[in-house]
Amino acid sequence: MSEELQGNYRTRTDICLRCPMGCEVRTMLGPDDEILEMNGNRCKLGVEYVEQEIKDPRRVLPTSVRVRGGIRPLVPVWTPEPMPKGRLLDLAKHTRTIEVEAPVHVGDVIVDDWEGLGVRLVASGEVPRAEEAHRETEAKGA
Ligand code: SF4
Repeated sequence: MSEELQGNYRTRTDICLRCPMGCEVRTMLGPDDEILEMNGNRCKLGVEYVEQEIKDPRRVLPTSVRVRGGIRPLVPVWTPEPMPKGRLLDLAKHTRTIEVEAPVHVGDVIVDDWEGLGVRLVASGEVPRAEEAHRETEAKGA
């Protein structure tokens, strides 16, 4: 997002992320952030996107957490519900303190309702337990 000031008015430019078209939407805002003019959006989802960006910008956080006893030391996780953009860094820092026990399965909830914001951190990958994977390999070789 970029922004230009013209007296009491602001013009912001956003790239709409609601679909792969990625329209460049230019919006003129009044002194109370009211939308006065908008162009560049190919559909009304662009209007919703910019309104959300002005009132409560949200993003999905893809990251990873440590795994104990797994065949890999990390598992990818993400926030299926977009979270407040201003708290992304805090959650990213928090994920560095998390260590889960293997096995981890896709869809496992690693953190539920982080800081009461309704944000979940969910596994998006599999990490089998190292001993089980080792036993299976031995059984196949026998
Ligand atoms: S404005 Fe509509 S067409 Fe353009 S990126 Fe957003 S959703 Fe896609």
